[in-house]
Amino acid sequence: MTVTVRFAPSPTGRLHAGNIRTALINFMFAQKMSGDFILRLDDTDQERSTEEFAEGIREDLRWLGLNWDRQISQFDRLLRYVGVSENLKEMGRLYPAYETPEELDLKRKRQLARGKPPVYDRAALELSDAERAAFEAEGRTPHWRFKLDPVGVVWDDLVRGRQHVDAASLSDPVLIRGDGTYLYTLPSVVDDIDLGVTHIIRGEDHVANTAPQLQLFEALSAKPPAFGHHNLLVGPEGQALSKRDGSLSIEGLREEGLEALSVASYAATIGTSDPVAPHMSFDELVQAFAFSKLSRSPARFDPRDLRLLNAKLLHMLPFAAVAERLKAMDVGGGEAFWEAVRGNLEVLADTKLWWRVVEGPLAPVIDNGDLCLAAAKLLPPEPWNEETWPAWSSAVKAETGAKGKALFQPLRLALTGEQHGPELKALLPLIGRERAQARLEGKTA
Ligand code: GLU
Repeated sequence: MTVTVRFAPSPTGRLHAGNIRTALINFMFAQKMSGDFILRLDDTDQERSTEEFAEGIREDLRWLGLNWDRQISQFDRLLRYVGVSENLKEMGRLYPAYETPEELDLKRKRQLARGKPPVYDRAALELSDAERAAFEAEGRTPHWRFKLDPVGVVWDDLVRGRQHVDAASLSDPVLIRGDGTYLYTLPSVVDDIDLGVTHIIRGEDHVANTAPQLQLFEALSAKPPAFGHHNLLVGPEGQALSKRDGSLSIEGLREEGLEALSVASYAATIGTSDPVAPHMSFDELVQAFAFSKLSRSPARFDPRDLRLLNAKLLHMLPFAAVAERLKAMDVGGGEAFWEAVRGNLEVLADTKLWWRVVEGPLAPVIDNGDLCLAAAKLLPPEPWNEETWPAWSSAVKAETGAKGKALFQPLRLALTGEQHGPELKALLPLIGRERAQARLEGKTA
């Protein structure tokens, strides 16, 4: 069987970390099974959907490396949904209901007061033609409900195992609003059928939609796909993620300078039985993926942990993986520079700081002028290599009697302007004799 999955965001905001997890799980599964990954834009809500958000979503997915094989927009398919709903009406599975939201609310309150579950009572099914005509004469337009079969619905969830739902305990879902617009349920099922989706993989906030959707597949004589509902992400304080929480938007994480690979590694490994760790390539993530590893409880997305993971990833990345991007940032120094500084980076852009330290101009910080002047005089002739720093600093120690922090701190401050940083044995040859001497003498170089 060829696997086809889809990621189905609504273009009503930018993607956040939680959406991306759904996209990633779908993508990784498709890759693993050599299947197709479809991007479906759930844009039937034309008031809130915008092309700008749709483009933002595509940009976020591209940045993360989640390339799709096909893309569709639900808005382009409205006529198809109309056709299917007409069929369902003819079959008697889609019926008009006229209650206002206030009337429905009142019904629910009454049921609850009597200790009954607030399930829609299907009063609309009892209406006579005359009663319907009277409502319409009043100016009411019907919303349309899908008539559920009151039977047990069972599916083997890829993540949650066997699930049982008694459809008799559910309200008949509204598929079409009074203004004629579609809620998500019907378009989603129709698209999944038409696109040959084999696995619906989504967050567990959609579990409650599955039984009605399975009945809809059946009503439309389609073989239902497999379903998998993964655990959701929550923010660092346990709060639900929302599109309005900009700090966890993919755009925000990208602007912070985080690596796409660390965002993907983090979002794919939290809330699983695998350790949260950086992966050196997308392929590694794909190979490690399995539904059975997903945990059942919510996974905490903490931007601080993501930053740590980002640093760990940078510390491991070979020069070839970043060479192009360093060039684009005007950071030179080649492999020697990268090897010297990568252990001190949180984000790739930190290389700019260290490149400035190497290239100058840099105003030195002189903490012990006498020591620095003595050290300047002892600088050996070039060429320099990793042996230069230990030999030279030993010579400075022998000459001045300074040792430990009293020796190293003034030299580091003079040479780099910073208290901490990459190992000087790697940095010193990159700074070179001319600049080192000038800085030790207190000059900007
Ligand atoms: N547009 C829905 C959402 O973003 C898609 C749900 C589904 O995958 O079926 O939640």
